[in-house]
Amino acid sequence: MEKYNLDQITDNIRVIEGFPTPDISFKDITTLIKDKDLYKQTVDMMCDALDFTPDIIAGPEARGFLFGTAMAYKLGAGFVPIRKPGKLPGETVQASYALEYGTDTVEMHKDAINKGDKVLLCDDLIATGGTILACAKMIEELGGEVCGIMALIELEDLPGRKMIEDAGYKLYTFVKYAH
Ligand code: AMP
Repeated sequence: MEKYNLDQITDNIRVIEGFPTPDISFKDITTLIKDKDLYKQTVDMMCDALDFTPDIIAGPEARGFLFGTAMAYKLGAGFVPIRKPGKLPGETVQASYALEYGTDTVEMHKDAINKGDKVLLCDDLIATGGTILACAKMIEELGGEVCGIMALIELEDLPGRKMIEDAGYKLYTFVKYAH
């Protein structure tokens, strides 16, 4: 028997058209991770796909925490949260990235990474790749080595994969949608 049932994992991601804006087809993973067997299967599948041992898993809020912390626990890695500005109490570094209109900023603690740490970046979904590439920039600025970027879901019509691979990173994804 297969260890993971990717069809069943896919079937339990709820797609909500027009949320939060009319042009977005929102991929809702809450319906997946409330199922105890499927949450475990998903995290196990993500851990087993890795071909390196991370010292640190870093993930952007909020859904990056849901997969990243579970993976870190299973792999014996540390977890580093990446947050929207103004949420972290210590000294931080920031990175901004372009949105369709305007920019967004992510932030992490300056002392979160040791020089030479092997880091896996983890989120629920890659769309344009802007969020995760901003995260990668901060980790490298702090001396970490981004050894891979992982997300459960990839939106294949959007430029995320190309942006990430052109920047020289390995991208791992599992469930694919067009957009
Ligand atoms: P991006 O920076 O464009 O790659 O967007 C990825 C981030 O936005 C991730 O943290 C996702 O959780 C969120 N996101 C973007 N598009 C969607 C979508 N269609 N459904 C759910 N989350 C999304």
